[in-house]
Amino acid sequence: MHPAGSVAGRLTPTRLVAHCLLVERPGGLLLVDTGLGTADIADPGRLGLPFRAVVRPVLDPAETARAQVLARGHRVEDVTDVVLTHLDLDHAGGIGDFPRARVHVLADELDAALHPTVRERARYVGAQWAHGPCWEPHRVAGEEWFGFGAVTALDDDVLLVPLRGHTRGHCGVAVRRADGGWLLHAGDSYFHTGDLATPSTTPAGLRLFQRVMAVDDLQRRHNLERLRELHARSSPEVTVFSAHDATELAALTGG
Ligand SMILES: [Zn+2]
Repeated sequence: MHPAGSVAGRLTPTRLVAHCLLVERPGGLLLVDTGLGTADIADPGRLGLPFRAVVRPVLDPAETARAQVLARGHRVEDVTDVVLTHLDLDHAGGIGDFPRARVHVLADELDAALHPTVRERARYVGAQWAHGPCWEPHRVAGEEWFGFGAVTALDDDVLLVPLRGHTRGHCGVAVRRADGGWLLHAGDSYFHTGDLATPSTTPAGLRLFQRVMAVDDLQRRHNLERLRELHARSSPEVTVFSAHDATELAALTGG
């Protein structure tokens, strides 16, 4: 994505990504977040004009999660599970590309997407789940993980970590690596790697955008503070990354 009004990266970054994570598990592949999907690219109108005008996505079929899963030699049906940090249109767009996968999400987020308030209505695109996904809504549980409470375990190696604020039921997804460390996909709980610095080095326009987009900004900032502490304290045991920061994606993919 190439946000409008970037002014050489000073107000917003010149480029944002939709960072997905493909996890190989014994029972099948698990995909964390799905970005925009092939149906969004075939019919960009369903994304709405404000999103296209402000965020300016590059609608390239080769960049979809589906195309990248196939390019790695897997089949669509090998993806048995999808976990979504939340259901905003730039995260849930690809669920229709994996129609047989179970789609895990916090129950509050599914409720927000299916029954949005007036304020929430613009951020969710019902057409992205018109195919009738196999939803697996999760209630928050009681587990602790690095100081985060109410964590829900999908299994021993995949955890849903509630990080509310950006949306009603936003969560991070923690995945245990083969070496025993953890990756935490923090979704949209922050947008720029500079958000993890104190003081923040995030471009001003992007800081404002995050405040405006949050359904509960107090909660968002509270969770961001905890992510900063986690990042400062436990690295390299936990590698935290966000959905949209291009430098974090490049660092983790060696690109
Ligand atoms: Zn997003």
